[in-house]
Amino acid sequence: MRQGESAPKGAWTGAAVGGVKAPEPIILPDPVSRFARTCQRLERLADGHPMEGWLSFMAAVADAQRAACEGLPAVAGPDEADVRLAVEARLPPIAADGWRRDPVWRDGLGLLIDRFDGAALPPAAATVIATLRKRTAEDTETRADAFLRGRIEPADAGAAFWIAAALQVYFTGLAAGMHAESLRLLEQRGLCPCCGSTPSAGVVRASGQTPGARYLHCSLCSTAWNHTRAVCVTCGGSRGLALRGIGGDSGVVKAETCDECQTYAKLMYEAKDTRVDPYADDLASLALDIMVSEAGWARHAPNPLLLMA
Ligand SMILES: [Zn+2]
Ligand SMILES: [Zn+2]
Repeated sequence: MRQGESAPKGAWTGAAVGGVKAPEPIILPDPVSRFARTCQRLERLADGHPMEGWLSFMAAVADAQRAACEGLPAVAGPDEADVRLAVEARLPPIAADGWRRDPVWRDGLGLLIDRFDGAALPPAAATVIATLRKRTAEDTETRADAFLRGRIEPADAGAAFWIAAALQVYFTGLAAGMHAESLRLLEQRGLCPCCGSTPSAGVVRASGQTPGARYLHCSLCSTAWNHTRAVCVTCGGSRGLALRGIGGDSGVVKAETCDECQTYAKLMYEAKDTRVDPYADDLASLALDIMVSEAGWARHAPNPLLLMA
């Protein structure tokens, strides 16, 4: 039989044009596996690390976030029409600072702090948890708004840590209920297309359909979105970029510095370690933040769980 004589019977597989697939623009999170993965990675990274005690504590926090995801009911997100309107206006449909939160997020906060009740916490942390418990719902909501708008009073930093952790649980659950195909990347490519927040870090994939693609991972709702490599996450420039790392380390985490806007963002390489996690590896590479910021670049956005520092 010559070519073209008979129509193929099977369905086409692969891309219709060319052989190279475009990276999926947006990948929504699976809440339980997101926090379970971060927990496992933190446990592993903590072992023998100079900040072992703190990383182990952060692993316990991630585990509590995983348990909170399992313990909370599914939350209702925006309806399709509202998503369409937001996307047409190039706005994030569950904007961190505008979305009307379901009070269920405070149940998540309760589940989180219950886990640490009576745990061997330093007295200051135990006091923060006791105070959080006594607050009225209105008071907690006001503080959540302040956190989401980036206006935390120094006196509130301890409470903001738990509020941030609970909001990650809630927004990750909300993002999981969205439909990736109805979303669009924002014009500001460095911001999350779901909630408009800044990313924790970027990961250069080694596996999946498009190895070599960079995905940024939202610091609030855990959505991942594709971002062109060698383009600054903050200003979109490409002329003054350089990759910097700590000599002699595993090479998993680098800082991409930009001389056009004097900021840096972390970039992680799955090819160097398939278990890399943008949340856990960010915490375990604080030495890189210190090195790069001492050399004059400012981090593109803070890690929400480090605002208490
Ligand atoms: Zn987000
Ligand atoms: Zn830049």
